Amino acid sequence: MKVPEPRQTLRRSPEWSRVLLVAAVLSGGILPLELLLGATPAAGGIEEHYRGKQGNILVIKVPTDDTVTHVQGRFLGRTISFFPESRRDESQGFVGLLGLDLQDEPGTHPLTVSVKSGERTLTLNYSVVVVKEQFRVEHLKLPRDKVDLDETGLARWKAEQQLVQEALAADSQVRLWQSGFVEPVNGKRTGIFGSVRIMNGQPRNPHNGEDIGAPPGTDVAATNDGVVRLAVDHIFSGKGVYLDHGLGFYSMYFHLSELLVKEGEAVKAGQIIGKVGATGRATGPHLHWGVKLNGARVNPYALLDLPFKGVMESAAPAPVGEPAAAVGAPAP
Ligand SMILES: [Zn+2]
Repeated sequence: MKVPEPRQTLRRSPEWSRVLLVAAVLSGGILPLELLLGATPAAGGIEEHYRGKQGNILVIKVPTDDTVTHVQGRFLGRTISFFPESRRDESQGFVGLLGLDLQDEPGTHPLTVSVKSGERTLTLNYSVVVVKEQFRVEHLKLPRDKVDLDETGLARWKAEQQLVQEALAADSQVRLWQSGFVEPVNGKRTGIFGSVRIMNGQPRNPHNGEDIGAPPGTDVAATNDGVVRLAVDHIFSGKGVYLDHGLGFYSMYFHLSELLVKEGEAVKAGQIIGKVGATGRATGPHLHWGVKLNGARVNPYALLDLPFKGVMESAAPAPVGEPAAAVGAPAP
């Protein structure tokens, strides 16, 4: 399918930005708009285009001043959390990680970002072009009882799905990670993220993570700081760990032979959380590594390409030994 080019006519010139600025000043100043605009002369205005393939992560930067307390985006019905910029040599502002789900419809979609300053809220409009990814088609032959569940298996699977959904609905309201991302296992990356799966001749859900082949017992490291939200032994994922990194960002590690962390425990980037195994529905020992970002299933390897290397400044410290911040509490 042909993906439409971004509509360049929407891009506002610096002149247009100045017009908006003058208009804002003349109308009594809707927000500190001049500060929003002034910080990005190169961006050429408040409206920008972003572009990425299905399963990728886009870094959205909104320049702000000291008066801005909260920034939040909406994209395809999902809420995108923003956090204050803390990278060295970067201008002041808020950053949001926009995950493009592996099944997001290719085409141009709006991203609206609300910027709160005191009592005022300004809405910024961006457009995001989702580019179709050519995912592989994978044919798998598995024992029938691993694909077609009996009544007991089906009930167990449903209960497990429910448990995961509930646990992951309670996002921590602060960003818990502070450094660059770590590859959990240095093994053979199979490149099957997003692949269409045909199991014993029947089409199934796409593969929502990446599989990394490694010998059983290989150490599995946490990709970044976070809190263990779930430590499970489930019918398909086997022994698995769900890490909550805050602000709707989760990483998952499945088919482990051994779990080395407990629910509620705070972990550090690179900390060994388990060992590679073949528990659950697995054809051999490997790590299934998955990432969910504000509800979008993204390629976990996209994390390693993010411009967050080394230790950042002024990130929220991870809580020790207790679940992260209360549900529903306002973000700092
Ligand atoms: Zn997998």
